[in-house]
Amino acid sequence: MCARHETLRRTFVTLRGRLPVPDPVVFDPPPPALASARGALDRGLCAECFGRLFGRLGHGLSNPERAARLDQLLGESRSPAATPCPACGDVFARLDIWVDRGLRAVEGFEWHRFTCGSRWEPEVLAREEHLWLQVTSEWGESARSAFNREWGKALEGRTGASGGPDRPDVVFLADLAVGRVEPTVLPVYVRGRYRKLDRTIPQTHWPCRRCRGRGCDTCGGSGKTYPTSVEELVGGPLLTAAGAEETRFHGMGREDIDARMLGRGRPFVLELVRPRRRTLDLAALVSEVATSSAGRVEVDELRTADAGDVLLVKEAAPEKSYRVGVVGSVPVAKVNEALDVATGRAIAQRTPTRVAHRRSDRVRARRIVSARVVESAEAGFTLEIRTEAGTYVKEWVEGDGGRTEPNLAGLVGVPLKVGFLDVLDVHDTLG
Ligand SMILES: [Zn+2]
Ligand SMILES: [Zn+2]
Repeated sequence: MCARHETLRRTFVTLRGRLPVPDPVVFDPPPPALASARGALDRGLCAECFGRLFGRLGHGLSNPERAARLDQLLGESRSPAATPCPACGDVFARLDIWVDRGLRAVEGFEWHRFTCGSRWEPEVLAREEHLWLQVTSEWGESARSAFNREWGKALEGRTGASGGPDRPDVVFLADLAVGRVEPTVLPVYVRGRYRKLDRTIPQTHWPCRRCRGRGCDTCGGSGKTYPTSVEELVGGPLLTAAGAEETRFHGMGREDIDARMLGRGRPFVLELVRPRRRTLDLAALVSEVATSSAGRVEVDELRTADAGDVLLVKEAAPEKSYRVGVVGSVPVAKVNEALDVATGRAIAQRTPTRVAHRRSDRVRARRIVSARVVESAEAGFTLEIRTEAGTYVKEWVEGDGGRTEPNLAGLVGVPLKVGFLDVLDVHDTLG
């Protein structure tokens, strides 16, 4: 390095605070290691395998560089490498072939980060451990971990992609015995909020109950109970944009089919399975969803996410606000009186009959956080209420045959019916 470059480098180090300055080479094998190395001289090992016998000794050197250093220190000549090398079978000499195989396996897919793994025949690994015992080296590095690392470096060098265990786009698995690379393309996760402005569509794709999705007379061959869903209206454009194979929709709870989802919308994570493209124009997809769904569904705040966000979304239990149109002839003063009694205290809700087929039948304690009448007329009134997660609002208003106690109809002493229900807000704190 010339002096000017050295000055530049130092300035850069100072500016950045830290620069990936390579570790100083430390390799100072103690006498027992030198004795082991001497004992391995005539085994016909390739440089990688000879050096790897001491792979966990020192740092800053590749295994072939370790071998060269040992050759120097011992001052004795090593017998030429056998063909194939008795330890690795020349796998390390053929890294380029493995790079080619890896690249071919993911042709047509966009990826920037990757992880390498490999499957070895147990006998090969056992033979290696046996060799460590024979030459009494306690510093051996396994061929598998060295292969994974060196293959990764070679892939990085060829593609500019970045290898490592953290959030890979692709996991390459080399099957050494078969000579094949099995790639796993990981999903792209997109998170956002959706509004549902239509009272006829469910949140997720709903297979026909009679044929379970195969297609029958009841569902007109579609295999579905409803022609479309939020999942399909949101997922369709994203699936196309990503060239994915399928989508999985994870909503933060769900609203009834005949309820609209308004306000800021409901958080969701969409998982795009085996995507060919990972760089998505999310702003364009926001308008694409609105257009292609003819305004029935809108999305907002789309951004890339990860598998951890699925858990966050599924485990969140936020309060929710609703607007409820109630049919029933009650003086508004009476309703207000009932709301005073009903809010802020526990209500006991037994699993509603309408969901008993998918939920266990038990009694849950829930709370109406706040409630007020926002409109009233002769034949009914409109409420805005805020509830704890998991409160069945319709049942709280109507009573569900006494399965919810207390309930609004019971408190006002007049039968009530929910005419419409909208979710106004999901009060999550995910940001
Ligand atoms: Zn070898
Ligand atoms: Zn069917």
